[in-house]
Amino acid sequence: MDKFKKFTGARSGKIIEGLSEVKEYLQNYGYISESATNFTNSFDEMLVSATKLYQQYYNIEQTGRLDEKTIGQMMVPRCGKRDIGNDTSFMQHSANHGNLQSIAHYEIFEGRPRWKKRALTFSFLPQNKLPDNYKKTIARGFSKWQAVTPLSFRETGSYSKADIKIGFYSREHGCGHAFDGVLGELAHAYAPPFGWFHFDNDENWVVHQGDQLGHNSKDPTMLTAIDLESVAMHEIGHLLGLGHSVDRNAIMFPTLTYGVRKIELQKDDVDGIQSLYGANPDSSESSPSSHAQNLFRGTPAVSRWWGPTLLAAKPAMALVDIIFL
Ligand SMILES: [Zn+2]
Ligand SMILES: [Zn+2]
Repeated sequence: MDKFKKFTGARSGKIIEGLSEVKEYLQNYGYISESATNFTNSFDEMLVSATKLYQQYYNIEQTGRLDEKTIGQMMVPRCGKRDIGNDTSFMQHSANHGNLQSIAHYEIFEGRPRWKKRALTFSFLPQNKLPDNYKKTIARGFSKWQAVTPLSFRETGSYSKADIKIGFYSREHGCGHAFDGVLGELAHAYAPPFGWFHFDNDENWVVHQGDQLGHNSKDPTMLTAIDLESVAMHEIGHLLGLGHSVDRNAIMFPTLTYGVRKIELQKDDVDGIQSLYGANPDSSESSPSSHAQNLFRGTPAVSRWWGPTLLAAKPAMALVDIIFL
């Protein structure tokens, strides 16, 4: 996405070599109609309105120009699933949490697809021979979503019968969305009832155990290192039926800033998933919202997982993951 830097300051009426790629980017994420083709390099009305829509989504002043903030946002690693478009219905509604009036920012796929049964199984592609700490990391992600819903997740050795099939693949792998080597697309997951959960095998996945690195983990200071748990948490939300959230702290926010480990569900994630499935009946909290509030009291949304020196030297990073319906 570093290639977008040169467009900083671009505005209506300009013609700039390569500007069509910004239009393609905005189209990929739902800001330009899918039917539009043959993009030109001219900063036309289409680009102005798409830019404004993008700025609205990311809460940036709607200038319609590719100003510094807008280009900066476009350069942040992100999920490949579109922000707005046909496959999701944007849910921004008022929810009454006690005396506190707050806005939910989560998104549900159109038609509200969700799992009909509550006890779900997941299984790892046997050929991957995944290390145990990879499996534990992904299983930990499931248990966090389980804690706030009536759903339960259990690993099964029977891959073909599992509801959720987890596999690490390189390049073309038969699901219709090829991976692309290091960085770019990192993972994708399908909404219910498909249960396909695919990771890009070419990424340098980093696994943590507590605050320690897992034993066969890659070096987290590598500029291409990707935190497996952060990506898994986000993708599981899609597997269960959640789209993206506009809440920056939410697990379901489409971008993951480089060097940030983001593994705890936030209130908006919980509100979203509970709108589909209800709360966990075993929870001691009767009200979903107070449960969520208690759960997250004092929980930081994100934690840095390597030092500030490296962060200062951050390179241009590509997409974090990609999810399609
Ligand atoms: Zn996503
Ligand atoms: Zn796939």
